[in-house]
Amino acid sequence: MARTPIIAGNWKMYKTPKESVEFVRQLRDQLRDVKDREIVVCPTALSAAAVVETLRFSNIQVGCQDAHWENEGAYTGNISPAMFKEAGVRYIILGHSERRQLDNDTDTRINAKLKNVLRNSLKAIVCVGETVLEREAGKTEKVIEAQVKGCFEGIGLGDLADIVIAYEPVWAIGTGKTATPEQANEVHTFIRGLVAKGYNSEAATNMRIQYGGSVKPENIKQLMAQPDIDGALVGGASLKVDSFGAIVQF
Ligand code: PEP
Repeated sequence: MARTPIIAGNWKMYKTPKESVEFVRQLRDQLRDVKDREIVVCPTALSAAAVVETLRFSNIQVGCQDAHWENEGAYTGNISPAMFKEAGVRYIILGHSERRQLDNDTDTRINAKLKNVLRNSLKAIVCVGETVLEREAGKTEKVIEAQVKGCFEGIGLGDLADIVIAYEPVWAIGTGKTATPEQANEVHTFIRGLVAKGYNSEAATNMRIQYGGSVKPENIKQLMAQPDIDGALVGGASLKVDSFGAIVQF
C-alpha cells in the first residue's frame, strides 16, 4: 500500500486567532483541489477551535502542538487531548525539540502523552532528532533509537496507523540548514528498520515518516523524491500561504 504523503505546518507561537483564521481562509482556497496528500495545520491551542470552524468541509485538518498525559486535573496552563478532541482537532505534535529543550519533555513524558492522545482517538506526530553535537560524535542512530524506543514503549501494533514519526534533526530546525535528502533518507530508513524490529515489516512499510528542518518550496521536491521520506513537518515556511501552499503541492 502506497503511503499518502502528509505535509503539516507547525506554527509554533505565531499568529493570533484573527490572523490564524484569515490565513486558513486563504490556504483553504489555494489548496481546494489537492486530493492526493494529507494536509495539516497546527496553530496555537488558542486558535484551534476557530481554525477548525473555518476549515470545516475542507481538505485541511487541524493539529495542535502538545497535549497533556491526563484528561483533566490540577495542571495549570495545560490542555488535554480530550479538550482538543471536542474542539475538532485531529492531530497532536508530540516531543518537538523545542519542547524537549525548553519544556522538559522527556521520552517517558512523551510516551505518556502519546498513550493519552491515542486513548482519545486522536492522531500523533511524534518528533525525534539528534543535536549537532550528537551527530558530530557519530551518535545519531543511538540517539534516535533511544527516542523511538522510549516514545513507543507499550504502544500496540494496532495503534501505529494513528502515528506519524517526524525526523527533525535539531541542527536543521529554524537554522536554514537542511539535511541533504540523502542524509535525511538514511535516518528515515534507520527509523523504519526500528519499527520493523519493534513490530513487524508490514508496520514498518506502512509507517509514515516526515522530515522536518528548514523545509522550503525550493527543497521539498528533492526530499520527497527519497524512498523513505513520506512528508514534511514545516515550521517557518508554513507561516506564509504561498510557501506552505507550494510545499503542499510539491
Ligand atoms: C519545526 O518547527 O518543526 C521546523 C521543522 O521548523 P523549520 O521548518 O522552521 O526548520
